[in-house]
Formats: sequence, structure tokens, C-alpha cells
Amino acid sequence: MAFEQVFGQDKMKAFFLSAIRQERLAHAYLFFGQAGVGKDAMAVGLGLALNCEDAEKEGCGGCPACRRILRLEHPAFRFMLPVPARPKAMKIERYQEIIRERYLARVDNPYLPVSFSPEISTLPVIGIDQIRQLKQETRLRIAKGARVIVLSHAEEMTVSAANSLLKLLEEPPFGTYLVLTTENPSRILPTILSRCQMLRFPPLDEETVCRALETRWGMETQKAKLLSRLSGGSIQKALDFLDSEFEDRREAAFRFLEACCRGRRLQVFTETDHLLNRWDKNGFLTWLVILQGLLRDLMHLDAAADQRLIHADMGSRLRGLSGHWSGRGLESALRHTEQAIDLIGKNVYLNIIMHELGSALMRCRSETAERIHHG
Ligand SMILES: [Zn+2]
Repeated sequence: MAFEQVFGQDKMKAFFLSAIRQERLAHAYLFFGQAGVGKDAMAVGLGLALNCEDAEKEGCGGCPACRRILRLEHPAFRFMLPVPARPKAMKIERYQEIIRERYLARVDNPYLPVSFSPEISTLPVIGIDQIRQLKQETRLRIAKGARVIVLSHAEEMTVSAANSLLKLLEEPPFGTYLVLTTENPSRILPTILSRCQMLRFPPLDEETVCRALETRWGMETQKAKLLSRLSGGSIQKALDFLDSEFEDRREAAFRFLEACCRGRRLQVFTETDHLLNRWDKNGFLTWLVILQGLLRDLMHLDAAADQRLIHADMGSRLRGLSGHWSGRGLESALRHTEQAIDLIGKNVYLNIIMHELGSALMRCRSETAERIHHG
């Protein structure tokens, strides 16, 4: 992932290119922002830019140095992810092979989530052994270029690992740059945060996500547009929607919405129970994000802004629902959906969340209907 292959984040690229040219790089950075916006991609890009053999380019991705970095064989580049512990029965060679595969996959495509095979399934962490090994390596001098160390998902560092890393952050060897990336800076020790320059990676705009889906994942334009609108500016989230159940979930979300719109209480609860039997937490998250999109579309129809429809291909079916809620009712429905997404993150029982959501959406509708009635 050379800088020019990082999608969007133009300000960040410009910032680093000028810092490199003027030799004003800080010794430690913390990149934070949601998943799938290019934090790790930029960190890899920095490693390439600082070590590329082509002085004209800022990391070409093709010269011997760049290729060694991308194969994780360059002594000046270290890339680390949280990893599960080695199961006692597993040979160390097999374990190292799995970890290396994961690292390589992440460097090759930093926009995809990392998953470990069921062979090793304990909670992944960045442990003290990883940091110790890192510190040992930094004692060796590198011939040329600059050493770049990337700790991806740095919030998963154990406390002892973080304390061990502190020393390195306090007195980094000359020419060594650390990049920590995280979705969740509040889970990182303040002593670590205070020693890093913090850079926030904003969500990507829809066009950038759309272009990424078309060019890198070969997606057809109409689908790329739909997913980029649902993505909230994250390529990873857009790709999450790609699984085969997308159409299924969208259909279920529409049926649920329709039942709420028409105030069919029994149907709302049957739909909910049906869904509860089929999906886990992640399935529901996808479903809720789709539901949000459908509600936004009803707002667009309300405002006669048909050209902004997220689910443009469902336009006529959505139009059939658009009379049931007023603008205020829709806003309130959207708020309830957002709350439901929050609650899923907080591990509240799915059936409680879903039943409350159904009731709340029906209330939004009837309040509106009442108001219209009285008005
Ligand atoms: Zn190069």
C-alpha cells in the first residue's frame, strides 16, 4: 500500500509527504478513527515512503526495498497485530505460520478485518513477548532508511506490554518511528497517549468508498454506490455488506418497516421473533444500518429529494410507505434506530432491543397520525 494506493485521506498524505521532505517526522504517532478508513494503509505507506529506493517517488511499491517491506522481510519495517495465544497442542512452527499469514494479509489489504482460523481462537492481544522481541530488534542498527514499527489495534496491548513499550516511546533509537493505530484511543493508557502525536483519520467520503469498491474490488457501479452510501465512510463496513445475506436482510428490514408503518403490531412481533431466531449480533447490526438507510430514504421522499435515495432500486416500494410518518416522526424513528445500534454495542439482550425498537417505531407513527388527525 504505497501512499498513492491509499484511498482518500489526502490531507493526511500531504501532511506526511511534507513532514518527510522537511525531516520533521515525530517519533511516535497514534492514528485513530473508525475501522476501514485507511489508518493501517497509511502506516504501511509511511514505511514504504521512508525506505523506497526510488528517490523520485514516495514509496513505489515495486522496488526491491518496497517489495521486501510488503513481504514483511525488511529489517526496517515491523508490523504487528494482536494475536491469540498459541494453543499448547500446536507446534510453534505452525503457529508462527498462521500469524505470519495474518500479518501478510493485513499488509496486503488493510481494509479487510483480521480473523484467525478456529485453530486458534483465544482473545487476540499484543502481549509482552511481542514488545520484548521488538525492543531487542531495535537495538540492532539498520543499514539505511528509517525503521518504522506499526502496532495495529494498539488498544489490545496488555498492561505489561504497554508498560514495556513506554521505554521505547521515551527514548526511541535514532531513525525509529512508531505508529500505533486504533479505533478506540480511550482504551489506551494515558502514559502511552501522552507520548504520541495523535492524528484523527476522518471517515472517507462516499465517492472515495465507491471508487475503492469499483477499482480494487471490481464491483459494478450501481452496487458500489449503494454500499458506499451505507458505509458511513468506511471501506471495511461497505465490504461487510457484501455477504450473500445482504438482500435477505434488506428485505427483512423493509418488511419490518412496512409492518411498523401500517401499525400491524402482531406482524412486527412475528417479524422480530423470526429474525431473532436467525441472526447473531453482527447480523442485527447490518440489519439496523440497512433500516436506518430505509428511514433516511423515507425522509428524502418526504423532502421530494428522490435523487438522493440510498436504496434507489426500492424507490417505488418506499413511496408506498412514505405517507405514514411525518418528518418529525421519521427523525424520532431514526433516533430510536441509532439507540438500538448503541445498545447492541453495549451487550444489551437482542430481544429486548428489538421489541423496544418495534414498539418505538410504531409510536413514532401513531403520534404523527394522531397529530395529523387533530390538525
Ligand atoms: Zn520503492
